[in-house]
Amino acid sequence: MVKDIALLTAGTSEETGRQSIDARVMAAMEQVPRHEFVPPAQVPYAYENRPLPIGYGQTISQPYIVALMTDLMMVKPTDAVLEIGTGSGYQAAIVARLARSVHSIEIVEPLGRQAQERLQRLGYTQVETRIGDGYYGWEAHAPYDAIIVTAAASHVPPPLVRQLKPGGRMVIPVGAQFLTQYLLLVHKSADGMVSTRQILPVRFVPLVGH
Ligand code: SAH
Repeated sequence: MVKDIALLTAGTSEETGRQSIDARVMAAMEQVPRHEFVPPAQVPYAYENRPLPIGYGQTISQPYIVALMTDLMMVKPTDAVLEIGTGSGYQAAIVARLARSVHSIEIVEPLGRQAQERLQRLGYTQVETRIGDGYYGWEAHAPYDAIIVTAAASHVPPPLVRQLKPGGRMVIPVGAQFLTQYLLLVHKSADGMVSTRQILPVRFVPLVGH
């Protein structure tokens, strides 16, 4: 459904370190109907490359950022993925097309419930959601091959690092609200060493709770 990401991302490889968005990610972006994930008033804008309000002061991320974050996780069909910040459920639906399972946590109860209903209705049965503070992760289904945080944290939450498998990747925006936040790619090596790479400046709603 979102078809022009390749054009939108042209020229960004120097900044992101990615030559292009993986074809599987692009296919998922084309398949997931973004208009199903936004409130009725936003439907006319669903295929524009910008974030849109979803209520409760929250937003569905810009498609380019969804594609980039998904790409950076390098998800394989056998992967178990954890998402913090279910929001509309759109990012979870994209990842669900690429992974074995997605567990997603939302702190705003009505948003989490709506997203769960929506994902069920659209047939994304491999996504499981719950209401809670994602700072602490979801221990019951850990460890994860990849973790995606879709709200900006002041630091990389240690519980999430612990719940990442050796060889796992985490994509997370870090920085204060209204100040520059950076999208970070956190990698845990086979021997458990953690390294971090700064990808690009971004603007996300804050990770609350904790
Ligand atoms: N991934 C979402 C984007 C949602 S915006 C989508 O595709 O639509 C970020 C979301 O993170 C908001 O819904 C916000 O309520 C949620 N959030 C903020 N702090 C959180 C926390 N500590 N735990 C879980 N969710 C949180």
